[in-house]
Amino acid sequence: MKIGLFFGSFNPIHTGHLIIASYMANFTELDKVWLVVSPHNPLKEKNDLIHVHDRLEMAKIATEDSRIEVSDVELKLPQPSYTIDTLTYLAEKYPQHEFSLIMGGDNLRSLKKWKNYEAILKYYKIFVYPRPGEDLGPWEGHSSIVITDTPLIEISATFIRKSIAAKKSVQFFIHDKVLDFIEKKGLYRKA
Ligand code: ATP
Repeated sequence: MKIGLFFGSFNPIHTGHLIIASYMANFTELDKVWLVVSPHNPLKEKNDLIHVHDRLEMAKIATEDSRIEVSDVELKLPQPSYTIDTLTYLAEKYPQHEFSLIMGGDNLRSLKKWKNYEAILKYYKIFVYPRPGEDLGPWEGHSSIVITDTPLIEISATFIRKSIAAKKSVQFFIHDKVLDFIEKKGLYRKA
């Protein structure tokens, strides 16, 4: 199967993430998308990052009965795990699958700074969702880069967390069952 890997902290998963994953799984040559929940992104502040098990659970709840699955592979690898290392691990563990990456045009622009980016491009395709008005420059036309027409909505998890702390409704911004989970567990109540 052709599997697209979508990495993120998903703190929490929101409709912006889900639209991207659903578009990739249903409107491109990919068969499935795996959401790879990162325990901790060293580039992001840690203080409002809730426990990875809750983030995994919310991602699972939001993607029930879909072509999107949730992977906890990064919990098993030494941290921080570079993308090339996670890809190599998955390719060895699941030789029956063909893995690709899913990323925004903003991430693609910094690809040359990634560990072993030449190997990533040599062995894996990258499905890109350009942000509005974004110029992908030299990457356009590269044989490993698939540029898609993914519809985007500008929601961020930061906005969701702040809204919950401020007791504003985020109905329709996140999946109803994820909202129930957050309320029952009292998550994100403090800004
Ligand atoms: P935060 O606000 O906490 O930084 P986020 O929602 O921007 O969270 P992640 O959960 O790490 O970030 O998202 C995973 C990936 O999806 C990231 O590469 C991020 O840039 C991208 N992304 C997040 N939200 C959107 C969106 N609404 N549209 C397009 N890309 C998004």
